[in-house]
Amino acid sequence: MIGDIVGDFAGRLLGWYDRAARVLPWRIAPNSGGEPDPYRIWLAEVMLQQTTVAAVAGYFARFTERWPTVADLAAADDADVMAAWAGLGYYARARNLLACARAVVRDHGGRFPDSEAGLRALPGIGDYTAASVAAIAFGRGAVVVDANIERVIARHRLIETPLPMAKREIRAALAPLVSSDRPGDFAQALMDLGATICTVRGPACAICPVMADCRARGRPDIERLPVKPPKKAKPHRHGLAHWIEERGRVWLVRRPDKGMLGGMRALPGGEWTDERPPESGWAESGIVSVDHGFTHFDLTLRLARREAPPEVSGAAAEGEWWPISDLDAAGLPTLYRKLVDKMLERDA
Ligand code: SF4
Repeated sequence: MIGDIVGDFAGRLLGWYDRAARVLPWRIAPNSGGEPDPYRIWLAEVMLQQTTVAAVAGYFARFTERWPTVADLAAADDADVMAAWAGLGYYARARNLLACARAVVRDHGGRFPDSEAGLRALPGIGDYTAASVAAIAFGRGAVVVDANIERVIARHRLIETPLPMAKREIRAALAPLVSSDRPGDFAQALMDLGATICTVRGPACAICPVMADCRARGRPDIERLPVKPPKKAKPHRHGLAHWIEERGRVWLVRRPDKGMLGGMRALPGGEWTDERPPESGWAESGIVSVDHGFTHFDLTLRLARREAPPEVSGAAAEGEWWPISDLDAAGLPTLYRKLVDKMLERDA
């Protein structure tokens, strides 16, 4: 018995998981006897960071069809991977994905290291991904804490310290509960519990497999947990992009590797600044704009039609003419996709 935990926490949780596990394309169903594929588990975990299961499913299917093994991904063209990632956001993850695949092939003979420490030494793999891949792919008794698990444990153990300070307490509370027999299923069971029962709003405590010893159950303020840090006001930035069109094609550039949306195809344009840039010299009628939220700032990006050839647009030195009718295949990140859609709608 750990504290006021009643009986076998892991046993109750895993019993429920055996009946109710979500079917996910990267997951081996409990008790199916299947062997987890570390490549698929790693790929899914990287894609799922800051993104929902629903949003990831299509990307995962396309990636694994096109690059079925880590060696295939390692050999892929950078531009193809960046384009296939377009729309998933947090583009540094795509660059790290490639760097990691190449390190696995170059330094580990195409096999992922099977320990948390070995995984953490790979590019782009942080504490969370190392723990989850070690647990799910290799059955290591790692303490896996994602946002769903954080919520379940903060509620179950009634941890009222605000995040991110609460993270240490959550890990400490979770560590002794981890199943030594089925650590991978245990982690996935907690993820599922958070996603389907101990949800952000309206947790279904009455059908929760670990309700018997949940300290938060029945409290009117349950949705407050885990306690979030106070919200900081985000800065607002502005940018101007250029729509340069010629014979049914538009001029696209590749953003510099370092920085926001690094390495992605984009419309040419200037820096994003705190001040709204002047419009002089631009055809006012050609302007559309979108608002887009990044993690650390909000951006208003305007798009102005420009007649000048690309050489004079500054950022356009390295670019390409792209057929407007085939812009879906350009792999534009969501920000530029929204802008392009608005421009095309306006012109329709
Ligand atoms: S009893 Fe309710 S609050 Fe507690 S873990 Fe289960 S769903 Fe979450």
